[in-house]
Amino acid sequence: MVTIDHQGRFGLVFGVANHRSLAAAIGEKLGASGARLAFAYQNERLKDMVDKATQGISNRTLLECDVTRDDDLERTFGRVKEEFGALDFLVHSVAFAQREDLEGAYRNTSREGFRVALDISAYSLLPMARLAAPLMEGRKGSIVTLSYLGAERAVASYNVMGTAKAALEQAVKQLALDLGSSGIRVNAISAGPVNTLAARGISGFRDILKIYEERAPLRRNITPEEVGAAALFLLSDLASGITGTTLHVDCGYHIVGY
Ligand code: NAP
Repeated sequence: MVTIDHQGRFGLVFGVANHRSLAAAIGEKLGASGARLAFAYQNERLKDMVDKATQGISNRTLLECDVTRDDDLERTFGRVKEEFGALDFLVHSVAFAQREDLEGAYRNTSREGFRVALDISAYSLLPMARLAAPLMEGRKGSIVTLSYLGAERAVASYNVMGTAKAALEQAVKQLALDLGSSGIRVNAISAGPVNTLAARGISGFRDILKIYEERAPLRRNITPEEVGAAALFLLSDLASGITGTTLHVDCGYHIVGY
């Protein structure tokens, strides 16, 4: 039997808002594998929810960090260095677009709406990777981010978030090339729809869930636990030969034509 043992290894997870968050499911699997974890949350308003959502994970650390702020990111990675001394796993599970940009015509996306979506949902991976790299030196570090099929296809209402996810998936390739010589791997999971806070902001989200259930080869929607398991695999040494890739965890929906 293959077991994943992450005792003595350290992870930093961005993007837990509540117990439904995909980052919470990833944290649960990573914590159960023995890794010591820190969870970064956007602001004080979320702290209690994040505390509750991660309370099953022993010895975790909670750190406040708005990913649009370079000083916040530097302070957060500085705290990780102080507490852990090193880093093995980085999980980027963060995305945001203005509500008005997730409905109606894509062509109406404002300059500011485009900037905000790309900054938070794609660019933020770059400073995280830059700050993680020195902490991962000599440790075969692994970075995982979360994407969606809207990066590859035109999806109604997903709009500017599709553009951001396309940028994110390309950034994964570029970062994999950048960091490969340091032994650091960078991958994305393209997840099927899951009922979370962020997903509910997408107009028509309930219809998307229904369509996946009808048309995906497995005839159902994915569970957050399946995303957690795939992330654990990509973060672990079992995936030591995999970098720069996007792994679809969507019950096969992405392969269906007509
Ligand atoms: P979620 O629970 O709402 O998580 C999104 C996270 O992003 C929240 O913790 C949110 O914090 C955080 N965030 C937004 N702006 C931030 C900022 N400036 N600084 C720090 N954190 C910020 O929803 P989720 O579905 O788990 O989303 C996680 C990732 O999975 C996202 O990249 C999403 O696009 C991706 N994904 C989701 C699905 C799905 O169907 N659920 C499918 C494919 C991919 P706040 O709550 O404070 O904004």
